[in-house]
Amino acid sequence: MSVLEIRDLHVTVETDAGVTPILNGVTLTIRTGETHAIMGPNGSGKSTLAYTIAGHPKYTVTSGTITLDGQDVLEMSVDERARAGLFLAMQYPVEIPGVTVTNFLRTAKTAIDGEAPAIRTWTKDVKSSMKNLRMDPKFAQRNVNEGFSGGEKKRHEILQLELLKPQIAVLDETDSGLDVDALKVVSEGVNRAKEETGLGVLLITHYTRILRYIRPDYVHVMVAGRIAEEGGPELADRLEDEGYDRYLPAGVEEP
Ligand code: ADP
Ligand code: MG
Ligand code: MG
Repeated sequence: MSVLEIRDLHVTVETDAGVTPILNGVTLTIRTGETHAIMGPNGSGKSTLAYTIAGHPKYTVTSGTITLDGQDVLEMSVDERARAGLFLAMQYPVEIPGVTVTNFLRTAKTAIDGEAPAIRTWTKDVKSSMKNLRMDPKFAQRNVNEGFSGGEKKRHEILQLELLKPQIAVLDETDSGLDVDALKVVSEGVNRAKEETGLGVLLITHYTRILRYIRPDYVHVMVAGRIAEEGGPELADRLEDEGYDRYLPAGVEEP
């Protein structure tokens, strides 16, 4: 049982134009076993929240806290965050030239567990997870994210999720660029992790489509760096019908 607590989080980013506030007081609690969806218009700060939890150096926390089981996440290195049980799948995953998927996964697993996984069970686990995600076995020998299609990048994220067995996963726009078949496969992977390990999920999405496959327990709407509204799955259904217009100032259209 783990709990990720975000309290009154204020985050700025430095640009050529100076320091810009992006998150203006975000409060959120995610426990293992729970699925939270963060929805909201483009540019509202959803990815900024994901990057901040991940420890991206571009984002500065000016006040507020993030803790995992009472431990200060903001004081942790990126590696320590992963070892503590956090998993972050970014909207735009980076390429790692010269590192194959299979070596990457093994290195990550070793770093997180503090010891190398036993070869035989590990090879079996990787094979069966890849099969679950309908991935070609040849994929394991490709370099991480190099020339991956949108769908392959997302499957690779979920493959990591299945094998690394984190406590809490932040998935930023895991649905973007997926056709319906890939969306189903990816959602099944997340749902398997929820069932098998009691994974807690923070699912960031602009669209309601993925929420038909991964049902959220809670829905939070982010607007201009704040949570503007919270509710259950019915809130996602309403957003599907109405969009985000009601949250935006009159006359402003979503960018
Ligand atoms: P969302 O994921 O909800 O679309 P983002 O968190 O990506 O929103 O962006 C929120 C706002 O912060 C946008 O106005 C965006 O331009 C700005 N922003 C985010 N990251 C950066 C960055 N690294 N440099 C400059 N501006 C940024
Ligand atoms: Mg966006
Ligand atoms: Mg985003």
